Amino acid sequence: MPVTYTKVEKITDAAAVKQAYKPTHPGLFEVVYAEGDYNSKLIACKAYAKGEIICPVEGTTPGPKRYTSVQTGKDSHIELNSDLVFMNHSCNPTVSLDTDSMIVVAVVDLKEGDNLTFFYPSSEWEMDQPFPCWCGADQCVKNIQGAKFLSQETMNRYFRTKHIQDLLTERDAASA
Ligand SMILES: [Zn+2]
Repeated sequence: MPVTYTKVEKITDAAAVKQAYKPTHPGLFEVVYAEGDYNSKLIACKAYAKGEIICPVEGTTPGPKRYTSVQTGKDSHIELNSDLVFMNHSCNPTVSLDTDSMIVVAVVDLKEGDNLTFFYPSSEWEMDQPFPCWCGADQCVKNIQGAKFLSQETMNRYFRTKHIQDLLTERDAASA
């Protein structure tokens, strides 16, 4: 796995990017590049059972909060430095990104070709780049800004990292 990993974000020639692409986790999952901004996605290369570990999270580096970083503690963030950075958000996610145990886990049964998505507020308290969600899930929370802006009841539907649960508990204790 490379120490530094450049996320190709703005895609004008998907075929060329695809040709140059080397998966960081061959056989497990791969990026499907699409033209435009933020249209690429990560798909499973095989089936996974609900609860199965898809991969360990390795090769990360600490860094500032930015649109590609993942929050790992109240004041700490990492860069994933792998194809995992292409996991999109969904309010009905297919995986959890568990940075307490540093593993990616299937939260539903997945078949080959399924989209790997996680619920960004499960790790992010206040996101660097909030965005409106059009995931289409019945329980879509609409504005993805981080767990700070969601109720405990909403967050209970999802896997949550320890720092996020601690911050929710602190917030609700302070406002009670
Ligand atoms: Zn949504």
